[in-house]
Amino acid sequence: MRRPALLVAVVAAVVGAACAQPTPPASGDAPGEPAVERTIALTVDDLPVGRGHGLAHQQRVTRDLVRRITEAGVPAIGFVNEGKLFVDDRIETRADLLRQWVDAGLDLGNHTYGHPSLFDTPLAEFQDQVRRGDVVTNELLAVRGDSVRYFRHPFLNVGPDRETKDAFEAWLEDYGLTIAPVTHDNAEYVYALAYDRAIEAGDATLQARIAEAYVAYMDSTAAYFEGLADELFGREMAHVLLIHANALNADHLDRLIAMFRGRGYRFVSLDEALEDPAYASEDTYTGRAGMSWLQRWAIARGLRLESEPVPDPWVEDVAYPGR
Ligand SMILES: [Zn+2]
Repeated sequence: MRRPALLVAVVAAVVGAACAQPTPPASGDAPGEPAVERTIALTVDDLPVGRGHGLAHQQRVTRDLVRRITEAGVPAIGFVNEGKLFVDDRIETRADLLRQWVDAGLDLGNHTYGHPSLFDTPLAEFQDQVRRGDVVTNELLAVRGDSVRYFRHPFLNVGPDRETKDAFEAWLEDYGLTIAPVTHDNAEYVYALAYDRAIEAGDATLQARIAEAYVAYMDSTAAYFEGLADELFGREMAHVLLIHANALNADHLDRLIAMFRGRGYRFVSLDEALEDPAYASEDTYTGRAGMSWLQRWAIARGLRLESEPVPDPWVEDVAYPGR
């Protein structure tokens, strides 16, 4: 789960640009467009599975998602809500879902125990959610000599005010975790919910249409954030992509990865992406909205933001019938 709507005001022109680089042309580029080399880290939230608590469903989604990541040969980190492991006292079985990520050589991070928002959760309670959020994950990672190193805010909410944000970030550093920011934020969860409803309805044709629209929508959000990064930094930066553990990605992650590769992206680890000095940019935003760190950096600089691409209305109608 992510956030409510983006609240940022809009206007201005963001130039969708691509810097010329002496690299081979990306296959998705239009003829004559400058070649670019881009990097991006894949991060997957709400493990073991975002929606649907049936064990068989979670096993199916985990198996196929891990398989698609592995077959694509990309590094990835999954952010865990450990509260989802404790269903009907079947801790061992649910921990096996995370073990599949570890066995595949993938990384895991802390996304709190129960996915509360720091916007309306008292700081002490939120800190307790973090402490309880990586107990099992650390045990699993310890088998290969690793431990949890990254934290992802639920709803990408960093707190209601600067006092809370600063206090939490200082505490988190002492606790030993590094914040995992996001640059390629999106409303993939709308497509994922619509896709789940199509599965529940047994409508394979609708599933296929949603998957097609999902990849096209993500292509448009990629262009938007590339443009924003160019406006902020005047160069290509190392991006971080946020998606969720769901049936949509379990079935179609290969197409999403192919789309990004077509735009010239090479998938890198989160460690490598965060080495980009762009991530040291000033970030002052607090409030209810969750959003890309690119948008936070733009706000800190006083830039006006162009509105980001919105999901297809017909997909929203499938996701939220009768609204
Ligand atoms: Zn989440």
